[in-house]
Amino acid sequence: MQLADLTTLGLGGPAADVVEARTERELVDAVRSLDAAGTPLLVLGGGSNLVVADEGFPGTVVRVLTAGVDHQGHATVAVQAGEDWDGVAGRLVADGLAGVECLSGIPGSTGATPVQNVGAYGQELSQTCSRVRALDRSTGEVVELTAADCAFGYRHSRFKAERDRWVVLEVRLSLTDGPLSAPIAYAELARALDVEVGASAPLVDVREAVLSLRRSKGMVVDAADPDSRSAGSFFTNPVLDADALTALRGRVPGGVVPAYPGDGGWKVSAAWLIERAGLAKGDLEGPVGLSTKHVLALVNRGGGTTEDLVRAARVVRDAVRDRLGVVLVPEPVLVGVEL
Ligand code: NAP
Repeated sequence: MQLADLTTLGLGGPAADVVEARTERELVDAVRSLDAAGTPLLVLGGGSNLVVADEGFPGTVVRVLTAGVDHQGHATVAVQAGEDWDGVAGRLVADGLAGVECLSGIPGSTGATPVQNVGAYGQELSQTCSRVRALDRSTGEVVELTAADCAFGYRHSRFKAERDRWVVLEVRLSLTDGPLSAPIAYAELARALDVEVGASAPLVDVREAVLSLRRSKGMVVDAADPDSRSAGSFFTNPVLDADALTALRGRVPGGVVPAYPGDGGWKVSAAWLIERAGLAKGDLEGPVGLSTKHVLALVNRGGGTTEDLVRAARVVRDAVRDRLGVVLVPEPVLVGVEL
């Protein structure tokens, strides 16, 4: 099977073998036996954050297709890793449970969400994720990790730091019962909802506003939107220390850099940096280039290869590094390729 058929970028060569796991037991057994045999293993959820080499993957791809959302008492749900994340977010909003409404429209599976502590529009998974059940491949044991054990940071976690060690099996969310969202923390979203920053809004309205913002940026996977044939944001928003921020200000005409405090430094929009480095929406010729809706996404315009994607990513990274002195780090998992 071609991995291009399993990734939202539509890129990636063949896998030597593919196994489909539809229950937690099948998933655990498959990973344990592949590990025991020493077979290279790629665990695949929604394929929305994955770049695979044109040569493919010389091992077994385990597709996580587990399903189930278990309501465990008041506003607590346990979600199997293979559940489509946006389907879960939509159901929770419809059930009147607050806490993940701003995470609407994020592509991929639920099992991927704690790995990079997905976040958007002022909310992140760590605010509601109370436990994760995971297979520890170093011991072969299934363990329950508390939120503290998960070591969540800005788009980061223990699962990302120790990527080859963990397979996420189930994510438990502790939500808030009620028709209103948490206070809206993100100015762009508050504007879209026509409320002040810090005000709440009906959950359904917040979900619709987030989906519409994401659609306007090509960030909702949709066969009718060629800009969504991507891996979403290709670079993470850098977190700079005070010296790096001062140096950046010195390189920008006027010296004004929008920066937000967080995670022990100052977050700067990667998209803003790319535009300041001279690139615009729709730029870069060839089969892979910048989305016409958001400079942060690299889009397979059709007929592209992973090599084309890597070439385009290097152009963007090098432009930002050479003109602004900031090294952007790719967000997707790279398999068999390097930037
Ligand atoms: P953008 O306008 O280019 O700006 C994004 C950057 O500005 C991020 O560092 C964001 O922090 C920060 N920011 C903006 N307003 C903020 C506020 N009121 N308080 C704190 N930080 C603020 O945005 P974009 O690229 O279109 O993305 C929109 C949202 O979707 C962002 O929240 C982004 O992080 C999120 N997103 C997440 C993923 C992912 O998790 N993989 C992928 C795509 C987009 P935050 O990153 O903390 O929000």
